[in-house]
Amino acid sequence: MSATTGSHEQPKPAQHKVHSTHSGRLEPCTSLADFSLGVVLGHGSFGRVTLGKHKATKTVCAIKALSKAQIIKNQQVAHLRAERDILKIVDCHFIVKLLGFFHDDHCVYFVLQCVNGGEFFRHLRARGRLTEEHARFYAAEVLLAFQYFHSKEIVYRDLKPENILLDNKGHIKMTDLGFCKIVPAAKRTYTLCGTPDYLAPEIILNKGHGKAVDWWAYGVLLYELMAGYPPFFDSDVTNTYKKILGGRFTFPPHFSISSRDLIRKLLVADLSKRYGCLASGVDDIKNHPWFKGTDWGAAEALVHEPPIKPTVKSPDDTTNFDDYSSLPPILHDHVLSKTEQAMFTGF
Ligand code: AMP
Repeated sequence: MSATTGSHEQPKPAQHKVHSTHSGRLEPCTSLADFSLGVVLGHGSFGRVTLGKHKATKTVCAIKALSKAQIIKNQQVAHLRAERDILKIVDCHFIVKLLGFFHDDHCVYFVLQCVNGGEFFRHLRARGRLTEEHARFYAAEVLLAFQYFHSKEIVYRDLKPENILLDNKGHIKMTDLGFCKIVPAAKRTYTLCGTPDYLAPEIILNKGHGKAVDWWAYGVLLYELMAGYPPFFDSDVTNTYKKILGGRFTFPPHFSISSRDLIRKLLVADLSKRYGCLASGVDDIKNHPWFKGTDWGAAEALVHEPPIKPTVKSPDDTTNFDDYSSLPPILHDHVLSKTEQAMFTGF
C-alpha cells in the first residue's frame, strides 16, 4: 500500500494559547502529565499514537502525538488545524471521537477514544480478501460514515483500509482525519492529497475536487475488500496515476455481476455519471442491487454482528496492534524557533 501524499497548503497565523477542548471531554487535559502513558499503538507520517490513561477519570485513550518540527517541514499546519476543528464537531459512531487536545514545545496531542480491535487493514491482510457478504457489512458502515461526513460538508479524502479501525465488537471507526476538509457543495478544493492507489482522476489532474473523490475512493475500497488488492496499482506512483487516468481495470472471476456493476458506477471519471454524486446522492448506492437486503436502519443501529470479532479482553488490551515496544512513547524533536512555535498559536 502506498504512503499518503503530502500537500502544499500554507499555515495561517493565529493567537497563542494552550488549552483543553470544549466541555464534555476529558478534564483536565492540558499536558502529558494528565495521563499515564502505555505502549505505542502505531505510527503515522508525523508522529505516533500511544496508549494512555487519563489520571483523573481513569479513561483509557489513544494519544496521537505529532511532531511540530515534522508538521512544519511537511507544510501540514493547515491540515492539522483542520483535523482538530473537524474532530471537534464530528459525533458519529463510525468515526473516532476526540476526547481532548493540547500541545507543548515539541508536539501537538490529540487525545482520542481508544479503538482497540486493531487496524482493519491488518485483519484484511490476514484473510487475504473478504467474501461479498462480509465486504458488504464493512462497505455499509463506511458508507454511513461518509454520509455523515458529507452531511457536514466534510470531504474525507484519505479512505484506505489502514485508516479504518475496528472497535472491541468489530464495528468500524474511521481514523486519521488529517486530510478532511469542509468543502461546501458548490465549491472545489485543489490540494493534492490522499493515497496514490485511492486518488480520483480529478485530483491527479488538479481540476479541483469535492465530495465526489470520496465516492471514487469508495469504489476502490469495495474492489480491494473483495479482491485483496486495489484496482489500480504499480510500484511506480506515476504509473499508478497513468492507470487511474486510463480508467481500465479488470475484475477477478469471483466478483458477482452486481458487485462489478456498482464498482463500475463508482469508478467513473465523469462526475455527471459517478454514483454518489448524482441527483439521488448516496441513495443510488444504498439502493443498488449489490446492497439488496441491507437494512440501513439496522446497520446504523449496530444491530448486526460484525463478521470479524477482535479479541479484546479489557479497554487497555493492545494485543490487536503490532508490537512497537522498541519505540519510546514520547517524541522529542528539535526545539523550535520562536517563529516556528508561533505557527501553532491558537491551537
Ligand atoms: P494515524 O497517524 O492516525 O494514521 O494512526 C497511526 C496508527 O495508530 C493507526 O494506524 C492505528 O494503528 C493507531 N491508532 C490511531 N488512532 C487510534 C485510536 N484512536 N485507537 C487505537 N489506535 C489508534
